[in-house]
Amino acid sequence: MEKLATIAVHAGSPEGDNAPLTTPVVQSTTFRFSSAAAVEEYGRGKSGLYMYSRDENPTVRAAEQAVAALEGGEACVLFGSGMGAMTAALVALLSGGDEVVASTALYGGTYKLLRDVLSRFGVRARFVTPENLLSECSRGSARACVFESPTNPTLRLVDVEAVAGACKAAGMVSIIDATFATPALLRPLSLGVNLVMHSATKFLNGHSDHLCGALVGKEALLDPIRTVSHRLGASLDAHVAYDLLRGLKTFAVRMERHCASAMAVARWLEKQPSVQRVWYPGLPSHPDHELAGRQMKMSGGMVTFTVGTRERAFRFWDRLRLIARAASLGGPESLTSLPILFSHTGYSAEELRRAGVDEGMVRMSVGLEDPDDLIADLKQALQ
Ligand code: PLP
Repeated sequence: MEKLATIAVHAGSPEGDNAPLTTPVVQSTTFRFSSAAAVEEYGRGKSGLYMYSRDENPTVRAAEQAVAALEGGEACVLFGSGMGAMTAALVALLSGGDEVVASTALYGGTYKLLRDVLSRFGVRARFVTPENLLSECSRGSARACVFESPTNPTLRLVDVEAVAGACKAAGMVSIIDATFATPALLRPLSLGVNLVMHSATKFLNGHSDHLCGALVGKEALLDPIRTVSHRLGASLDAHVAYDLLRGLKTFAVRMERHCASAMAVARWLEKQPSVQRVWYPGLPSHPDHELAGRQMKMSGGMVTFTVGTRERAFRFWDRLRLIARAASLGGPESLTSLPILFSHTGYSAEELRRAGVDEGMVRMSVGLEDPDDLIADLKQALQ
């Protein structure tokens, strides 16, 4: 089988004599049919024909093939955002009265989708800390389990194979949000997970310029999700699919650089007296360092640290010059966010405690700049 960097460059590209090297953008909303019989053939499914771009589009389909190949999955469905992907997955797989085991350390949008929206339709979320996921899944009784690894923002790891195994034994669908990990670090399907979700807005597209979401898994599981996605209409635009394909060509090299720079930044931060704690799975001080070595190929492009108090975090953050103060992650530009103002705004004190978020916490997405320049900026802001 080809290696990740090769798949990233070639998957989803046109093939054949005199084919264009890059995937054309098909921007038509609709497609002609030669006859009524052709429409009937389309209706039977798997015809390879197209009807309407909210449902399928050739450029989007090429990008879906690329993301599926990177994850080693049978199929992929792309969406207009990561939240579109997560919403479609949960709406397709759950019904009123179902229970879902969900990690307390989920992206805030997913947490609030479960807490505030799906709860109104009778879906009950049983929130448990990442440490308790395994035992809760082993209890069974729920329909699905939703978790992240590494978690946001404390970058704790879940033993993905163990949780997927417990879900399988209990007849539950395991869903991982692998946005922070990406297929460069972790291949959840090979560890038994049923469904991999990505905010492809982040490292996969990698250029801070598009929203995009992905679900990867077996065709049989994705089929009902695809149907729901056609109803919800959170479809991906063909231009964005093209940009995702272009971004993926450099995915493997970008990830190597993100991870190497993040390691340098984390090591430096750990030596600073004004930094009380650093969370980075590549550091021996990280509680899941040993699992990181076993489960992930590299340690990731995200680093989280705390300067102790809200006041110190605000002062440090306001002084940054090169590193941007902004939400999101996974682009070429290094970004920092304060979880209490961004992903975890609106959480109660108890919810923050359960998510492991403190008021002095800073989350950094380490970009593609020279790490010496990043460290120089952190240094002047910490002084
Ligand atoms: N999952 C994680 C871990 C995220 O960080 C985000 C966005 O920040 C999302 C999901 C949602 O993705 P999107 O912003 O593409 O809807």
